[in-house]
Amino acid sequence: MQQKKINIAVDGFSSCGKSTIAKGLAKELGYTYIDSGAMYRAVALYALRNGWLTPEAINEEQLQKHISDMVITFKTNARGEQETYLNGENVEREIRTLEAANGASRISALPFVRRELVRQQQHLGKEKGVVMDGRDIGTVVFPDAELKLFLTASPEVRARRRFDEMKARGEEPLFEEVLANVKERDLRDTTRAESPLRKADDAFELDNSHIGIDEQLQWALDRYYKITANNEQN
Ligand code: C5P
Repeated sequence: MQQKKINIAVDGFSSCGKSTIAKGLAKELGYTYIDSGAMYRAVALYALRNGWLTPEAINEEQLQKHISDMVITFKTNARGEQETYLNGENVEREIRTLEAANGASRISALPFVRRELVRQQQHLGKEKGVVMDGRDIGTVVFPDAELKLFLTASPEVRARRRFDEMKARGEEPLFEEVLANVKERDLRDTTRAESPLRKADDAFELDNSHIGIDEQLQWALDRYYKITANNEQN
């Protein structure tokens, strides 16, 4: 019998390995993976390119006026990796810079940005069978998701992971700068007025500072099988 599809929410702080678990689950279950952070990064990139987002200020009026001009989509490349497109242009590399990450963290505090992206995310999940990672997936985007996971790890471990990723891409980051960026984003994500990062009451929590990827994936799959077995019985 075909297993009924569910939605899976994976939330947590930045660089917590959410995407690794979310992609692993999607692959294992034949689900669609959606990186909600990439959507905030794409909006930030659009604003940066147009000069509406500078270190000093955000031109909210222009951003709000053009927010619905941005069409964000995902495509899988020849290596099987998902890439982000902004109005048809592949922006995957550009949205992964520290500048875009920082910009995303700033524009994601704006209620009209969240409203628009949450609307698009809910649309993407309406047929179920989606694993989405982010900050507010279990609390706001899919409050009825059948499985919710919440990942945590120490700021130093997370900064080290992001630092290694950037090095692997040929960048030359400073560890102290990456760590400062992680801490700054944690503070902004947890203290913003609009949908701050918090664990949903019904989410399963895992601190993965010292846990390997296979073990984390097994932890998540165990919860998936338990939940879907219960759903079948009811
Ligand atoms: O997950 P990622 O680091 O790519 O997200 C970039 C930024 O977008 C985060 O720092 C966070 O401020 C914001 N974000 C959000 N809600 C989400 C996903 C990301 O506010 N669901």
